[in-house]
Amino acid sequence: MTQCDSAKRIALGCIADDFTGATDLANNLVRAGMRVVQTIGIPDAGLSIEADAVVVALKSRTIAASEAVEQSLRALRWLQSQGAQQIYFKYCSTFDSTPAGNIGPVTDALMQALDTHFTVATPAFPDNQRCVFKGYLFAGDLLLSESGMQNHPLTPMTDPNLVRVLQAQTQRKVGLVDYQVVAQGSDAIRAHFDTLKSQGVEIAIVDALSNRDLFALGPALRSLPLVTAGSGLAIGLPENFGIGTDSAAADLPSAAGLQAIVSGSCSTTTNRQVMEFIQSGRPALAINPLHIASGADVCTQTLAWAGEHLSSGPVLVYSTAEPEAVRTIQSQLGVENAGALVEQTIAAISCGLVEMGVRQLVVAGGETSGACVQALGIAQMRIGEQIDPGVPWCFASTKLAPQGLHITLKSGNFGSPDFFTKAFAQLKLKHELPY
Ligand code: ADP
Repeated sequence: MTQCDSAKRIALGCIADDFTGATDLANNLVRAGMRVVQTIGIPDAGLSIEADAVVVALKSRTIAASEAVEQSLRALRWLQSQGAQQIYFKYCSTFDSTPAGNIGPVTDALMQALDTHFTVATPAFPDNQRCVFKGYLFAGDLLLSESGMQNHPLTPMTDPNLVRVLQAQTQRKVGLVDYQVVAQGSDAIRAHFDTLKSQGVEIAIVDALSNRDLFALGPALRSLPLVTAGSGLAIGLPENFGIGTDSAAADLPSAAGLQAIVSGSCSTTTNRQVMEFIQSGRPALAINPLHIASGADVCTQTLAWAGEHLSSGPVLVYSTAEPEAVRTIQSQLGVENAGALVEQTIAAISCGLVEMGVRQLVVAGGETSGACVQALGIAQMRIGEQIDPGVPWCFASTKLAPQGLHITLKSGNFGSPDFFTKAFAQLKLKHELPY
């Protein structure tokens, strides 16, 4: 691990408990003016790109608490080695966790490691309809426990009261800064922190109903070594480091090269996006999981097809299918086996496409993105401009593209119907590229 030099000292070091959540946080920080790098897991070397904030993406939301703590502490040590001045533990805006954790245990461990006795916890993200009122979390108009999250297969959220939820996960005393205090502004929030501390509270749930509340909260957090939150809190932090909104923060190197989309997401949104791309008359090739399972060399066939079309504009390779077709495939191949076969094939195809000169790549699907990023050997990505909420263009160097590659990782439910053409149009507009 390399010690940072002062020129590369980062302001904010973030630990995210899942991959697309990390991108969501990075996106909010960029929009608030920070230059942000997202790492895939904990790097084993120093940062190679200059940045104001780094988001380390872990997959620690639903693993055993002890393992989540161990990974988070390793991420903390790496961020400290890069000079991070404040640590941000990022979790989901629906506070996804079980009574055993992992939000409480990870917060405890980070507080202990940072030798601090006070922090905040707020998943509020008003831009995404997540508000905290009197400590109760709302998703849109509904209490968390009535929002559908009560049925989540891994982290059912049956209690919307965050003070109670977090108190069940930690020995430290949990308190509340309610909306009336928040509405009075930063000084009142700071004063209330002191009151809570005098009552033995170590973790404060903070109400926030609007971005205004988050902007009021930001300055009150200036001296805390650790904050814990969803991605919403990010909008109020950059000013503490003298960083204001700056569109240059989203600047990426100029885009060049061929364009492609690989899609392994079967969500309703992605199905619509695939349909829209096909209807626009551009080249698209469906890959069939049964062909893969039968041993056909789908990767080589797909790349040969792509070679005929790439020079005329973006091509789409997809396994995206409607739910009934997916169920049929799964009944024949098994759910996990079908998923793994498709992910491996799409990941291999994405590597082949990059070898053929693709330098602008859209990947659709959360798990699919993980597989592609791993296969491409991407360890760090600079975060650029948002294409649609939660989905920015990123830039990364890999062995296959040493000069860099523009890549965007679209989680299944994100993006407008024309996302697959809009994404490239945005890069073209930015860099005046010919198609
Ligand atoms: P999302 O973000 O929409 O959830 P993911 O990539 O996370 O997308 O998950 C989609 C999963 O479905 C992946 O494991 C992928 O390999 C699998 N999959 C994709 N296409 C098919 C298909 N036609 N039949 C069965 N499984 C598929």
